[in-house]
Amino acid sequence: MRNEVPSECKLVCIPDEHEMFVKAGRPRRGCQGMKKSLISDCRLAEGRQGMSNQRLRVNANSFAFRMRPQGSSRPDDAKHRQGMSTKFLNTTGLPYCKGCGHHLIARNTAIALEKSGFAPLDTILVTDIGCHGIIDRCFNTHTVHGLHGRAAALGAGITLGLSDPKKKVVAFIGDGGATIGLQHLLEAARLNINMTVIIHNNMLYGMTGGQASGLTPCGFRTTITPEGNPVAGYDICALAHTAGAPHVRRIIGVGDFSEELTEAFKADGLSLVEVVEICPSYGAKLNPGTKLDTIIEASGQKIGLWQTGNKDAYSLQCRENLPSLFEKTPEIKVEFGSKLKRPFSIILSGSAGEGVQLASELLARAAISSGLRVTKKGSYPVTVGVGFSTAEIIISPRGIHFHGISEPDLVIITSKDGLRHNRKRIEAMKCGILFIDESLEPPETAAEVVSHNFRGMGPRNAAIFAVFFFARNSGLISISAMIKAIQDRGLAGKIPIEKMKKNLEGVV
Ligand code: SF4
Repeated sequence: MRNEVPSECKLVCIPDEHEMFVKAGRPRRGCQGMKKSLISDCRLAEGRQGMSNQRLRVNANSFAFRMRPQGSSRPDDAKHRQGMSTKFLNTTGLPYCKGCGHHLIARNTAIALEKSGFAPLDTILVTDIGCHGIIDRCFNTHTVHGLHGRAAALGAGITLGLSDPKKKVVAFIGDGGATIGLQHLLEAARLNINMTVIIHNNMLYGMTGGQASGLTPCGFRTTITPEGNPVAGYDICALAHTAGAPHVRRIIGVGDFSEELTEAFKADGLSLVEVVEICPSYGAKLNPGTKLDTIIEASGQKIGLWQTGNKDAYSLQCRENLPSLFEKTPEIKVEFGSKLKRPFSIILSGSAGEGVQLASELLARAAISSGLRVTKKGSYPVTVGVGFSTAEIIISPRGIHFHGISEPDLVIITSKDGLRHNRKRIEAMKCGILFIDESLEPPETAAEVVSHNFRGMGPRNAAIFAVFFFARNSGLISISAMIKAIQDRGLAGKIPIEKMKKNLEGVV
């Protein structure tokens, strides 16, 4: 979730970030690389029968277009096909393969959210593993990415934690995820959780190589069922409706289906929309010439709406006595300033149990209290007490639309584990700065290397001291802001603040 800067926040803008790290001996230049799409290789569907060696571009004029049901054309179809960015989408270049049905789901979702009157920052888009999930960075909403098949469960938890009826939770899930997390979907339906689930049903696992899922219809060919799937897929709409979802719809995902999505977004309780679409890379290639409506008809399933009358959403019943999760979030007042003028990305890495996540949290708090926006994410092995611990932090004077870091501005390494985990990333740095504990041999890198004795403060304080070192050298966050963050976190008696300050006095 984004940290929003309070409206009273007044940034203190001092000249230019080129002054940053002057003490480290060199001016800074912007080095934000273009983010590469997770799927950069657009796999085009290969030919229909009799054209197997010919590359076939799947677009509105070929596979998807031919499957449009008669009479479904709407005046703004052209807008969809042109891929215009909207209030909700920050790009026209969606990250899917050409012709993938996911494009239309993303665009129709964006249009329908706007039509429904939701604001981007009142919308929480929950995704999980699968090609559909790589859309996160394209939406101007809050986005939460979960484990495979858990989007409905995650969305349900978020919905139950919200008390503001203006907030809208939308869960994106694939057909593979929907069957992996089938029980989560049915529980959300049974409880009638107030959110919308959109199933991207292209009838196979696209991201992992085109295998059959629990929603693959009988006879549909996948990479593991080249003769056609021998068993019928679940009728997920019928299941969800029977379980209790009051608004369920199956649609063929071509053209403009924003009206259908708008109805779902406005419905009370759990609304579920199954969008039947095609994966050109596998589905179209293995089932040439097949029409989506024919597939659904042959499977005995229906296209249309399942609806029951008014039914109280579970979230509405329990919200009255529950505080919102947002209300529990501590308020951090803006008391300091920062001269930061552009987003700045930091990777802090050391050993598990050595306070890396705590140090990054303190840095994040200090940045927020300096009027900046922050994203922070942690990564460490499932065995949380051994191995590396890494935190990725972005601080910025303006909104941060993607929390990933492709090329860090600064990498801080405080132990061997951290170095092992980040070696390749450091070697790939073409600019930026590396702070590394003096006990470690820096890898070959084009980044500027600054060695310092971080572990001299003791292993448990190495990461926090490294963050102090960053604050002291960059001037982007003041030491006072760091100390306030420590005090607010109730750690003033546990962290040797004076010793750290003294150590930094001699640093130039
Ligand atoms: S679902 Fe298929 S066509 Fe769509 S992005 Fe994934 S692999 Fe490409």
